[in-house]
Order: sequence, then structure tokens, then C-alpha cells
Amino acid sequence: MEKQLCIDRAEHAFYKIYNRFPVVFDRGEGVRLYDTDGTEYLDFGAGIAVMGLGYGCPEVTQAIADQAAKLCHTSNLFYNEPSVRAAEKLAWAAQMEKVFFTNSGTEAIEGALKVAKRYAHNKGMGTDYEIIAMKHSFHGRSLGALSVTGNDHYQEPFAPLIPGIRFAEFNDLDSVKALFNEKTCAVIMETIQGEGGIYPATEEFLKGVRALCDEHDALLILDEIQCGMGRSGHMFAWQGYGVKPDVMTVAKALGNGVPVGAFLAWGKAASAMTAGDHGTTYGGNPLVCAAADRVLDLFEEKQIVTHVQEMGAYLWERLEGLKERCDCVTGHRGVGLIQGLEFSMPVGPVVNNALLEQKLVLISAGSQVIRFVPPLVITKADVDEMIGKLEEAIRQVTLSVAEA
Ligand SMILES: *Cc1c(COP(=O)(O)O)cnc(C)c1O
Repeated sequence: MEKQLCIDRAEHAFYKIYNRFPVVFDRGEGVRLYDTDGTEYLDFGAGIAVMGLGYGCPEVTQAIADQAAKLCHTSNLFYNEPSVRAAEKLAWAAQMEKVFFTNSGTEAIEGALKVAKRYAHNKGMGTDYEIIAMKHSFHGRSLGALSVTGNDHYQEPFAPLIPGIRFAEFNDLDSVKALFNEKTCAVIMETIQGEGGIYPATEEFLKGVRALCDEHDALLILDEIQCGMGRSGHMFAWQGYGVKPDVMTVAKALGNGVPVGAFLAWGKAASAMTAGDHGTTYGGNPLVCAAADRVLDLFEEKQIVTHVQEMGAYLWERLEGLKERCDCVTGHRGVGLIQGLEFSMPVGPVVNNALLEQKLVLISAGSQVIRFVPPLVITKADVDEMIGKLEEAIRQVTLSVAEA
């Protein structure tokens, strides 16, 4: 299909919900994507932090192909081996006791919220409970996840959302403390805010929230959908803080491109749900679990977490250099391979120029932050190449602004 024809047909067929870039990708390999004209792109977005092991990872491809030929789906009325293997490995890596597989991140959040509600209900709080969430958070687009997403722009057209949600300032312990009362049954937050602009929780904040939850017998839910699966330089970001959540969510990189997520729990939260409380038709099917199982093996075999620590340090150093050279770069945050550069101007034109002129895929997080969430298997040479292309994109955009 000719590129423009594909774009036109897509615009005709789909709900007008996305503003897409005029690129039609056809295949990928490692850190590279190729469009239908065969043009190569360097990718530092990983399909929004999904392709941790890179595009076309041969081992994952093989696992998917083998399982697809054998059995894709049976429903949760029966047992299947790939889901057991994946669940055991995931629970082990996350130091959790119970796993529930979902088809997406937002569904993992729905499940986690239901655990909190069920926990409150079991305690005899009835429906008279509250959940504390964070401003500038992102937890997904389904109505429950949207209810705890601290973004008026996303929420407003769909109000009223679920009741009893109160928003605190991220990294401001006093603002959380001020919202706690005898009705609070849970706090939900990202360990590192992703869409909100790459803000890691401070250690003081995370430890403080954990202590407040313990004091009030409330559950701490950490959303690791974006920052989990090795991206922070720990398998899960909270493991770098010495603070353990009661419930956590994972998705994005778990299946390296097949849609699979999960919520996990331990201790009192692990026993909160009982038979009939939740369900899914597809969730945990053998096809996606064969992929997740192989992904979890490969994290061990390839020592991905150690690699992320090394590459994250190198990316940090190179972005610091870029920040010094470019006046329009005003901030740099993050850890491991989840970093953000803040600009004094909207980053849309830079992202656009990088993609269309430099053949570099970058994604933003909010209007003034470029987010770096590359495949975790990048090399130093990839980082060097990215810096060169990004600097050129910044140069071209600032030049054209100066000329205008
Ligand atoms: C992407 C994301 C979600 C939602 O995941 P979907 O698979 O898009 O539903 C939830 N929380 C965080 C932190 C995310 O980055």
C-alpha cells in the first residue's frame, strides 16, 4: 500500500482520536525501525516504553510463534502452563505473592483499585472510603484508571468519575498527610511519574507515604507500568528505594509487544479478593504468557538490569552535555533508561524534526519535556548517534524560530 493511501484510509476508518505522525512503520530490528519505503529510523521511544528487548527479538518471536502454533487461548475456565511459568517468574522478580494477568496497563490499574475497594469492604468500611492519588499522574484511560489520573483535561469530559478520590501533590508528604483520614483505604502513585514529565519519587516521599499507609492500615499501590521491568535500573523501581508496595501494576515491557499486563499483591492485599470478584476472558492466555515468560527469562540471561544501569549512566552524562550546550534545555530528570529533558519551549517541533528529518523517534511527556525511554538493549554508539541527531534537530528548530 502506498504510504499516503495508507494514511488516508486510516483517517477514514478510525475514530479521530490520535494525531499521528505521517510515518507508516513496517518492521523493526533491535533499536531500529523501518518504514514502508525502507527508510531506517533510530528509536528512543520503544513504542512508549514497551519494546524493552528491542524490535524483532528473535527469542521472543520464537516463543510467540511456537505457542501460536500450539494453543493461543482457552479462557480462564482452565489451566495453562505458560501462564503458570510467567506468573511464578513475575512474582519472584517482584517479591509478590499473587498475580492476576490483564490485557493492558489500564486494566491492571482497574484490578488494583478493586483490590483496594475489596480490602476496604472486608474491613467493614462499606462504600464509605477514599483513595489518595497524585496530581500530574497517569494511570490509564478506562473510567477507574481515569478517576485516579490527576489530569483535569483527561477527566473533565467524562465526569462524574468514581467518587472518593482525592489528589495530593507528588513528592509533597504534607499534602498526602493532609488528605489522610479514617476513610482512606489506599494511596496510588507511579514510582516514577512518566506521562507527567519524568519525575521520580523522592526516597523521603515514598518512605513517608509507606509509613502513613501503615499507620492508617491503607494499601500502597505502586504503578510500575512504565518505570518497571528494568527501566529504572532495578527490576521494579520501588526496589531501589527499599519501600515495598502492597499492590503493584505492570504492563508495557512485560510482553515486549504482545498486550499483557498484571497486578500483583502480597500479604493482606493478596488475600483481599475471593472467587468471583474479578475476571477476564483473554487475560493470561497462553499466547501472551509464552511471550512474557520468555521476556522474564531473557532479563536474567541478558543481565538487562545491569545493562540499564550502565547505559542509563552514559545517557545521563551525554544528556547533561547536551543541556550545557543548548540554552533551550532547562532541566534533566530521571534514572536508568527513563529520563526527561525539559525545554524552555514546546518540544513538538523538535520531536517532529527529529522524526521527519533526522530519522530519530522521540516521544514527549507533556508539552515541554522530551522523554527518553529507548529499548533497554541500546549501546553507547546508539546513545551517541541519538545525541547527534537530537542536537541537529534542536539546531534546526531554534534556527527557524530565530529566522521567523
Ligand atoms: C501506559 C501507562 C498506563 C496505561 O497502560 P495502557 O496499557 O495504555 O492501558 C498506566 N500507568 C502508567 C504509569 C503508564 O505509563
